[in-house]
Amino acid sequence: MQQKVLIVGGGIAGLSAAWALAKRGVAVELFEQGSLPNPRASSYDEHRITRHAYGRMEGYAHLMPEAFRIWDQLWQAIGTSHYDPCGAVYFLRDDTGWYNVVSRSLTAMDIGYRDIPLDDIPRRFPMVNPAGLWRVVETDQAGMLFPMRILTDMVVLLARLGVTLHANVQVSDVDPGRGTLIADGVTHSADTVIVAAGAWADRLVPSLRDAVVPSRQAVLYLAPPPALAQAWADAPVMLDVGAKGGTYTLPPHRGTRLKIGDHVFSRTGDPDEDRFATDRDLERLWPAAAATYRDFASYTVLERKACFYTVNDHEEFQVRPIGPAGWVISACSGHGFKLGSLMGELVTRAITGEMPAAEVPDLAAGRVIDPPWR
Ligand SMILES: Cc1cc2nc3c(=O)[nH]c(=O)nc-3n(C[C@H](O)[C@H](O)[C@H](O)COP(=O)(O)OP(=O)(O)OC[C@H]3O[C@@H](n4cnc5c(N)ncnc54)[C@H](O)[C@@H]3O)c2cc1C
Repeated sequence: MQQKVLIVGGGIAGLSAAWALAKRGVAVELFEQGSLPNPRASSYDEHRITRHAYGRMEGYAHLMPEAFRIWDQLWQAIGTSHYDPCGAVYFLRDDTGWYNVVSRSLTAMDIGYRDIPLDDIPRRFPMVNPAGLWRVVETDQAGMLFPMRILTDMVVLLARLGVTLHANVQVSDVDPGRGTLIADGVTHSADTVIVAAGAWADRLVPSLRDAVVPSRQAVLYLAPPPALAQAWADAPVMLDVGAKGGTYTLPPHRGTRLKIGDHVFSRTGDPDEDRFATDRDLERLWPAAAATYRDFASYTVLERKACFYTVNDHEEFQVRPIGPAGWVISACSGHGFKLGSLMGELVTRAITGEMPAAEVPDLAAGRVIDPPWR
């Protein structure tokens, strides 16, 4: 008999699981409390960074070649690529140990990286404040994914593959023992139910509260001053890394806006809150951005946005069985988009018996340096 799976959540994790299952002939029904895609999801944004350089989270670095492979399969399936291989440059302000770990993992994966001489920074990156730079490192096989376009194309693809999509339907209860859920008062049943509900997931899987907390994060969308417009159009993804945090910046490529955020987690907030970044939300990001970029006051602020993800101290994804007929994919955190497609694939492999379910939690948490497919 045809296997059937119910999925809660239409972000990158839920859509990826639906795609991986549908490709294998599994019957899938997906429930999303908002529209499909939902602008309130963590996954919904103009761009997200993708890269192999992962600092101390070395296990995630070693998942990235497989993640890139799955993204390539998606581009094939939807008939277009939503990846911009613009590279990533790391502006290291202190010796935090980042370089040693990254050079080890990039060398092991045969991915190119090189120092950019500090003397070259004002010419190549006229927007960057060069004061206090310790080292600048350029890495290959990195760039940006375009989530709004990806999610929309995935929804179209899933409908074409026969996945039943329930938009604007909130799931109020999940029973991972029986593979059932309740949506709008109606009970649905299947062989397995997957909860991929992003920062809302603990409402359906209370045990997650011991492992992760929702975190309200702020980003700014900007227009650069005209004198720097060309430099920004040519820029890679830029990460400013210091002992006290830093910033990440996505350049305005292919019809997207310049975006800047910081690496510090607020660890507070409720994902039902509004999405306008208040002065309080931005109190760390303003000074961090002004320290990273010269003349930051000359940039025009186009939007101040708050968004939510779940985090824990080690930024470990929680992807695991929650009962004999249930899984949770909580690959939220600040790095879950690039790996979201792989998380959906891993849970699918476990559900269809292609890999042991017991291997998934450690792989997803970035604890494995030598993944089984290598
Ligand atoms: C500011 C910011 C910057 C980021 N930058 C990066 C980056 O550069 N690179 C990177 O890889 N990652 C990045 N991330 C992280 C990444 O976006 C997330 O980890 C990822 O998108 C999480 O996807 P998800 O599918 O788990 O959750 P979501 O996208 O939040 O999807 C969950 C979905 O479940 C739905 N849902 C919840 N509860 C219910 C319910 N009861 N019934 C029905 N539906 C429900 C929600 O409406 C939502 O649509 C960033 C995140 C933020 C917020």
